[in-house]
Amino acid sequence: MRQIQHLALLFAFVIALGACNSPTTSTDKPQVVATTSIVADVTRYLCGSFADVTSLMGPGVDPHLYKASHSDIGLLSNADVIVYNGLHLEGKMSDVLHKLSSQKTVIALSDGLDKTEIRAINADADVYDPHFWFDVDLWSKGVQHLSSVLIERFPAHAAEIRVNTRRFQHEADSIQSQCKALVSALPRDKRILITSHDAFYYFGSSFEFTVKGLQGISTLSESGLKDVTDMVNYIIDNEVKAVFVENSVPQKALRSVIDGCSAKGHEVVIGGELFSDALGADRTPEGSYLGMIHYNVETIVNALK
Ligand SMILES: [Zn+2]
Repeated sequence: MRQIQHLALLFAFVIALGACNSPTTSTDKPQVVATTSIVADVTRYLCGSFADVTSLMGPGVDPHLYKASHSDIGLLSNADVIVYNGLHLEGKMSDVLHKLSSQKTVIALSDGLDKTEIRAINADADVYDPHFWFDVDLWSKGVQHLSSVLIERFPAHAAEIRVNTRRFQHEADSIQSQCKALVSALPRDKRILITSHDAFYYFGSSFEFTVKGLQGISTLSESGLKDVTDMVNYIIDNEVKAVFVENSVPQKALRSVIDGCSAKGHEVVIGGELFSDALGADRTPEGSYLGMIHYNVETIVNALK
């Protein structure tokens, strides 16, 4: 009898353990999967508490190089809605996203933009600069598009999504004004932003900076010796005092630029780490999209003034 009681207890324990480990039984909320941490942040903002939003890529992950893992495919297949940046930012996930778009709602924030508003790298080959989150106004258009499709997909939550969208746009306007005020303290000739890869074009056009990245718009192409030499000469000619590493890109190539400058008698420092293609850790200011924009502007202005 005692043995049967033990067995019954063990059985109950195993069932309870199974329930804890099973992702499908934890919630009956709609499941939304976002690719990058930046996309996930705005998706959470709009959805509020009615949906569970999961980010495939965590802090510091480079989306240009990211491949969907086996467990990612499971998450994407089970999702009610998938949200991604677009313009080939998630270049190695294009096939998966394309396939799933015939089965479920798959939303690209870039579909909210007109091609005339974005930077064409090679329009004939459909290559555009994907880093448009660095222009808060352009990103807001992407967010508006996301909002419209979410409302269509979840009409019962339309009012909540609309309120959250308005709150986001209001907060985005406020952060943009604060950032413009910070930048205005920096003379125009000191507004030269040098980073590891060419992610800050939209930042430059928004805040009137000259922007140079050592690597191209994707981290897939590595910088060569000539790129390093050209950058060293540019820094010396323009008396640039600081360059910036990025959280999602290795620092090695930019360090060779710093060494190159030093060898020619020009000291240039690392002005800080910028958050380019991924947010910072959760529960830090740079762990949210708007916090990250403000953090980057503050870091750049403080290092260059
Ligand atoms: Zn990038």
